[in-house]
Amino acid sequence: MAGRFAPSPTGDLHLGNLRTALAAAVIARSLGETFVIRMEDLDRVTSTLEHERHQLDDLASIGIRSDVPVVRQSERFDRYRAAIEALSSAGLVYECYCTRREIRAEIDAAASAPHVHLPDGAYPGTCRDLSEADRHQRRASGRQPALRLRTNGERIVLEDQVVGRFEGVVDDVVLARADGVPAYNLAVVVDDAAQQVTHVVRGDDLLSSTPRQIYLQELLGLPTPTYAHIPLVVGPTGDRLAKRDGAVTARELLQRGVSTVVIRDALARSIGCEPLGDEADDPVAQWASQWSIDQLPRDPWPVDRFGLPT
Ligand code: GLU
Repeated sequence: MAGRFAPSPTGDLHLGNLRTALAAAVIARSLGETFVIRMEDLDRVTSTLEHERHQLDDLASIGIRSDVPVVRQSERFDRYRAAIEALSSAGLVYECYCTRREIRAEIDAAASAPHVHLPDGAYPGTCRDLSEADRHQRRASGRQPALRLRTNGERIVLEDQVVGRFEGVVDDVVLARADGVPAYNLAVVVDDAAQQVTHVVRGDDLLSSTPRQIYLQELLGLPTPTYAHIPLVVGPTGDRLAKRDGAVTARELLQRGVSTVVIRDALARSIGCEPLGDEADDPVAQWASQWSIDQLPRDPWPVDRFGLPT
């Protein structure tokens, strides 16, 4: 049994990420699960080793460490390609030559047509049934195809530990981008299974992607973990915490003179754990021993209420 935190090393973790990480670590420890940190660095343009180092240091500063060596998705492309190959052999993969702009235009047009029901942002299926001649023509114009999953509007229902019942329609999700890089939804499913993750705790901005991931697990014969989607952290205006809200990373707060202990304890309090005050050897273990997931607040966390300047 394992829980995990899977950041993308594309910048410093903000308070919302750190809070989600803390919840994931405390939940894992309270249930006796292994805790895994995985670097989701599929995008080699935006991911850097420096961001990775900062993220791991910031996590360690509030007591969060991986129980196993940190895995990088950039080193596991062969596994993702094997999964795409398996789906492809089952006739479930097709080439998509659409640009983002074209997809947006199609979605807008479909929204105004009656009798068409697609999930928000769902791919409208433009390239689903291209002929060989169509594909040839698109390739000849210099386009490289993304790979998409062939779906039929399957409905997936999940029972989230925080959100409760959630139902979503599956769409033709991207499996590999046009530049050949495997896509997040595919990689996350492969890795959660490979790392024996039984408990996914993450921000609720990913809830709408979960039906796609469960569907991919089913197709690939992989187990479905338990999900707990944590409400986001909101800034002073009630909107999702963003850069414009001022100091939103641990580093920025440290620069303003807020101590690591204050940041750590504010994050802990925000998930229903008692502040520890001073330095603690293993704060996650201390919190885990006196906490259960029922104590996790179900509402977004307004960060300024806890005295952390933003
Ligand atoms: N890497 C994703 C992110 O940083 C999170 C993936 C996940 O937890 O499933 O947003």
